[in-house]
Amino acid sequence: MNNMTVAKETRDLLSKLGVAESLYTGGNMASYTPVTGEKLADLKTVTADEAKSMIDKADAAFREWRLVPAPKRGELVRLLGEELRTAKADLGRLVSIEAGKITSEGLGEVQEMIDICDFAVGLSRQLYGLTIATERPGHRMMETWHALGVVGIISAFNFPVAVWSWNAALALVCGNSIVWKPSEKTPLTALACQAIFDKAVKRFGEAPQNLSQVLIGDRAIGEVLVDHHLVPLVSATGSTRMGRDVGPRLAKRFARAILELGGNNAGIVCPSADLDMALRAIAFGAMGTAGQRCTTLRRLFVHESVYDKLLPRLKKAYESVSIGSPLETSALVGPLIDKAAFDGMQKALAGAKEHGGKITGGDRFDAGQANAYYVRPALVEMPEQAGPVLEETFAPILYVMKYSDFDDALSDHNAVGAGLSSSIFTLDLREAERFLSADGSDCGIANVNIGTSGAEIGGAFGGEKETGGGRESGSDAWKAYMRRATNTVNYSRALPLAQGVSFDIE
Ligand code: NAD
Repeated sequence: MNNMTVAKETRDLLSKLGVAESLYTGGNMASYTPVTGEKLADLKTVTADEAKSMIDKADAAFREWRLVPAPKRGELVRLLGEELRTAKADLGRLVSIEAGKITSEGLGEVQEMIDICDFAVGLSRQLYGLTIATERPGHRMMETWHALGVVGIISAFNFPVAVWSWNAALALVCGNSIVWKPSEKTPLTALACQAIFDKAVKRFGEAPQNLSQVLIGDRAIGEVLVDHHLVPLVSATGSTRMGRDVGPRLAKRFARAILELGGNNAGIVCPSADLDMALRAIAFGAMGTAGQRCTTLRRLFVHESVYDKLLPRLKKAYESVSIGSPLETSALVGPLIDKAAFDGMQKALAGAKEHGGKITGGDRFDAGQANAYYVRPALVEMPEQAGPVLEETFAPILYVMKYSDFDDALSDHNAVGAGLSSSIFTLDLREAERFLSADGSDCGIANVNIGTSGAEIGGAFGGEKETGGGRESGSDAWKAYMRRATNTVNYSRALPLAQGVSFDIE
């Protein structure tokens, strides 16, 4: 694929998806593709004052939208899902170009957007509260759920469109407006999502203006969203470093936070594991998306009785995996996002070596693109969990460690800062149930006989500890996007006070 072709194809895709050329030409923020390293566009960024005024407009949109019945709001999200179905091939391709995901993952990311729209449409008729028994005769107590306000969304480069949709679809059916600050590394896909949303709005016909807006800019623009008093909830996806800044700032003004931060995910391969299955799950979890998923498998504890069976097979898979342009369907591992990611990977590997790590792969791969960063995924046999193993490095490095005692493996599994995703490979019921129990995996996602990555939208997604504690997507994650009121109605002729308190006035 020659370089001119990618830039030209990008412009064609943007035009097909309905993005105005003026939004990505002649601006002050360059966007690049990790596929070839070439520049794709120059986007116009918003100033802090413009961002503030957009948030004011979003607040006005919220005040109208919250009065639209929820099932009607669901109709807009249904139309968004339809538009995404129509745009799937083009948007998926744009994701591959801008984030470097292989073709099936680019398309899969758009499918995830469609899935959450379907989920949210159903949810729009299920935003229910409880009726609660009251101790007072002739009274009724219940919960009602109301729209919250402007929902701020900050997203990372590695899920450039799905994360927006997880938040947007729920926020919209819950009666909120949305303002999105996408990653500065993937702004074009954000413009495309906004154009697709605008199409849905046009068909819907009666949505308030500025219901969904995009703030193009760097982290300073994200900070405007974080600090603005008219934004009661910010859902921020990115590194733990980002969360350490954003979390306290939101807390200071008593705003809500959904923090979806870094992961340092692990798997345990037990003596009874189905090794064929484990091998495939490990390969996808560790090498898929070039190791750039928050749920990527980064640490593997293998029981000593199966270590020598599994390791040679794993090494073979690492040595033979196809690396190359994500725009060619034969590649399973695409590029790293940029040079900083490559440098971070090399630094972690050097640190692992210092701690006694034996490395297979990890070097730069020649994909015929001098300005792009393709690597061979690294498999590192570690004598113990130390040094870089304890931190997330956002690159395809899998640290493998041998264990003999299940309790020790479990304890090492939990002995890192992050708490996002985890897996156990076992056919032993006791081990599996222990892993899922109160003193098992301490992660927000704990799986048995499947890998750490590739979550479905039906479950609540998120992690504990330094992953931030936020939950998005399915289950009852919608509750974070609404405010709850407890209502007590007295339909009697008396006024009994709770807890037997008396306060009788003449
Ligand atoms: P990043 O933290 O560099 O940036 C993420 C976003 O935050 C960007 O839009 C950036 O502009 C913004 N940002 C950064 N600092 C900010 C600040 N102080 N205030 C406001 N906004 C700020 O992350 P990245 O390199 O784009 O993505 C990779 C990271 O994201 C990894 O750590 C990965 O694990 C994590 N991630 C987590 C999840 C999850 O659901 N837990 C999902 C995807 C990615």
